[in-house]
Amino acid sequence: MRAVQYREVGGSPEVVSVPDPEPGPGQVLLKVSAAGVCHSDIAVMSWTAEQLTFPLPLTLGHEAAGTVEAVGDGVRGVSIGEPVAVYGPWGCGVCVMCAQGKENYCVRADELGILPPGLGAPGAIAEYLLVDDARHLVPLGGLDPVANVPLTDAGLTPYHAIKGALGRLVPGSAAVVIGAGGLGHVAIQLLRALTPATVIALDVSEEKLELARAVGAHEVVLSDERAAERVRGLTGGAQAVFDFVGVQATAATATAVAAAEAEVVIVGIGGGVAQVGFGAIAFDASVRAPYWGSRSELIEVLELARAGVIDVHVETYSLDEAPKAYERLHAGKVNGRAVILPNG
Ligand code: NAD
Ligand code: ZN
Ligand code: ZN
Repeated sequence: MRAVQYREVGGSPEVVSVPDPEPGPGQVLLKVSAAGVCHSDIAVMSWTAEQLTFPLPLTLGHEAAGTVEAVGDGVRGVSIGEPVAVYGPWGCGVCVMCAQGKENYCVRADELGILPPGLGAPGAIAEYLLVDDARHLVPLGGLDPVANVPLTDAGLTPYHAIKGALGRLVPGSAAVVIGAGGLGHVAIQLLRALTPATVIALDVSEEKLELARAVGAHEVVLSDERAAERVRGLTGGAQAVFDFVGVQATAATATAVAAAEAEVVIVGIGGGVAQVGFGAIAFDASVRAPYWGSRSELIEVLELARAGVIDVHVETYSLDEAPKAYERLHAGKVNGRAVILPNG
């Protein structure tokens, strides 16, 4: 089959031919309908050999939707042809975290060498995807795989980030979203659907700020060195701040706009560090750096999409065009999420 791989450190994604995968015991083979392109892949492709935690080549793509093509021995509860979304942060399935559906925080994944598809295991930007266990599949029902595949990460990750802060987002509160890209433009919609908060979006690009407004931001602010001052002028301080960039400048803005008892959530993996200490941040503010989300949260996000309150903006590409999608994402030119159609 054809697949898009990151083959050597410092290289670029390439379209290659690889052996057709076959499902072993307990595994499910999906024919990939759609695979999302995440900025984390750009980060992975910037890492040195020492920073990489898995061997290359790597088939890219950790947002996946497809139809069940074949199942290995012992697989129950899925039927051939069924359309599904894939829960990506695979865990052991039995530890105390996995037992709660929080496979993203599996206690034993490192020790057992369990890696997510597209972030260590072969990913979804390929004609077929091998899924290690049927429990990682969530039925799509009537949801369109192309429009909704980004919800497996660009929806699930902000949903998890926001869910923990919901108690603070009461009437009269403000929420700040830094970075209105793939994750950020879904975060704005989640905040509007789930809270009465005033939503303020920050980005460096006018086009992204337009998208932010179109998907529901009440206010938009250019993300520069004066951004924190402007946000404080609008709100006096936000009760929740979500940083979907995570570089030093945005982490500094995130803490600077936090009100007393605010929740600051650093989601972006740009290497920035939020300063916490008496006088460095508003009184009693909390800072979190979460990773992806739980299985039940993915089910909840798909339910929100079914309810019609999330509309992911997608640009579609063929498998051959996937390298171009990565180039455009790297250059900041993707509005919303790029989605690859490997069998389209
Ligand atoms: P994206 O490229 O689609 O969006 C990033 C957005 O940030 C763009 O709109 C860009 O214009 C904007 N931006 C860049 N610099 C900025 C600045 N200084 N101030 C404000 N905005 C700025 O990326 P994405 O796929 O949405 O991913 C966002 C981040 O989240 C990445 O760092 C990614 O690796 C990370 N991520 C983390 C998790 C997690 O579990 N923690 C999961 C998925 C993605
Ligand atoms: Zn991702
Ligand atoms: Zn586990």
